[in-house]
Amino acid sequence: MKKSDESEKLGRRELFRRGALAGVAAGLLPFTGNAAGTARAATRAEVKRYVTLGRTGLEISDISFGSSRLDAGEEHLVLDALDRGINYFDTAESYRGGDSEITIGNALRGKRDKVFIASKTHTSSSEGRASMMRSLEASLQRLQTDYVDVYFTHAVNDVGRLQNPEWHAFVEQAKKQGKIRFSGMSGHAGRLIQCLDYALDRDMMDVLLVSYNFGMDPKFYERFTRGFDFIARQPDLPRVLQKAKTRNVGVIAMKTLMGARLNDMRSFEKDGATYAQAAFRWVLSNPDVHALIISMTGVGVIKEYLGASGWTTAARGDFELLKGYAAMNGASYCRHACNDCEGACPYGVPIADVLRTRMYARDYQDEKLARSEYALLGQGAEACLTCPTQACAGSCTHGLPVEKLLAPTHRMLS
Ligand code: SF4
Ligand code: SF4
Repeated sequence: MKKSDESEKLGRRELFRRGALAGVAAGLLPFTGNAAGTARAATRAEVKRYVTLGRTGLEISDISFGSSRLDAGEEHLVLDALDRGINYFDTAESYRGGDSEITIGNALRGKRDKVFIASKTHTSSSEGRASMMRSLEASLQRLQTDYVDVYFTHAVNDVGRLQNPEWHAFVEQAKKQGKIRFSGMSGHAGRLIQCLDYALDRDMMDVLLVSYNFGMDPKFYERFTRGFDFIARQPDLPRVLQKAKTRNVGVIAMKTLMGARLNDMRSFEKDGATYAQAAFRWVLSNPDVHALIISMTGVGVIKEYLGASGWTTAARGDFELLKGYAAMNGASYCRHACNDCEGACPYGVPIADVLRTRMYARDYQDEKLARSEYALLGQGAEACLTCPTQACAGSCTHGLPVEKLLAPTHRMLS
């Protein structure tokens, strides 16, 4: 059985077979337009809205294709997404050791003019432009194309990486040579706000790919804490997204499922609407976010996810679903970008980043992705194996026992 099939057998398969999750129920449809459009939406899971990605001018599908979990031989998933109107495909040199790029390249051969492709390279603060160019050219070769539409510096967690003048020289050269059209920064965790502010204030990037979900959004908690933002503790994230909007920088959200523990929500999903769709609607209802990407691991989930395409507001029942998820998982979910624990480790362990890779292994059940992202951290949590102080204990403002999670994560992923 292929991985894509396995990912669907966890309880959803029967629902998909009956088509219950292929789109949302007719009563939830977002359209106020003509009846023909509504009827089509009810029967076919496809993209309903294209969005201009800020200054790039790219018109991309509001729900787009993430491929961190795309394996060799899964061209059919790319083609199914394309057939349903998805036109933006996000990958990275590190995903599946290059297999993700190869699979996308195979699937989209001969269709390059119909799609936008984004890829990423992990750059350090001291790397030279020649090395970055080699990385880009290797990606182009795997993708079987002459150019990528957006090229990201991957998982930035340190302003020092943005200060490297070689990145900017490389971008200028690659743009001149027509190998990249636009540049971007992706960020998930440590020092996210600081890095985003730095990049935006210096007008360094055309596109930001950023972790953003309801669980990171103070507005979500305000609805049941009567204005006390003591849970999210990330009041700066909406501010930074708004700043990006005012500077016409494209904003694409990722990590939109707050850990993606989809099966936890099975019994709470009603009327054909799913937790994932509710989480996407939350993200897409933020006018400062243009679109989102999500790992598409099977045809069933592609259909399910596209049930939220076209929405720019939440649907009735979404908030209760999301609240239920937050209640179940909030105490064990690392918000990554909150980074309140930064500086708690005297040995410099990047706690938020390590816990992000743990999420890939534990919540996504994808140890392969977890290992490759853990390897990119450079300094992981090795120091935790012999830590004499456990000084980080109590540093998580969300109550995670970080001192107990880090050493096992290192053992699991190194
Ligand atoms: S257990 Fe020790 S080494 Fe690991 S993060 Fe905490 S303080 Fe740092
Ligand atoms: S461990 Fe806690 S404080 Fe640190 S980033 Fe995660 S949620 Fe925030």
